[in-house]
Amino acid sequence: MTAPHLLLVLIPTTALTFLFSWLQKLAGVPLSFEVRYWTSFPIAFVVSIVVAWPLARIFRVPPLMIFSGPCPDCRRRPPGWWAAPGTGDKLTLQCGNCGERVELWLKKPSQPSDAGFAVPSYALRAPKFLGLWRRIDMEPPQRKRHG
Ligand SMILES: [Zn+2]
Repeated sequence: MTAPHLLLVLIPTTALTFLFSWLQKLAGVPLSFEVRYWTSFPIAFVVSIVVAWPLARIFRVPPLMIFSGPCPDCRRRPPGWWAAPGTGDKLTLQCGNCGERVELWLKKPSQPSDAGFAVPSYALRAPKFLGLWRRIDMEPPQRKRHG
């Protein structure tokens, strides 16, 4: 969790909380501002997690890696992943425990051959901002059935 991550969630959450509170008022919800605010907050927070990813891509902020891992080599969830500078759509990460290199695709490679998986490779799963990932270099190749 870094300051950009915090801002990418806090700013939309605050804006949306006020927006939802205001919409409740427009809809004639007979509640005080405080109650409307705190009922809007959880919804605004969830929406912000979804909205944060496109914003993060614009500002080139990597995903929050709290749910990523475990490392394919040491099988542990490292305290951190070191990122090497890479192209826009792919991050090269190094395990903070054992130094194993993995690749994290920020958008799904269009074809497996594009990826040329030289190291364990992952793609993000929704909500992508949280850094949930799934392995993509060990998916069984699609076989044509004869018959
Ligand atoms: Zn490791």
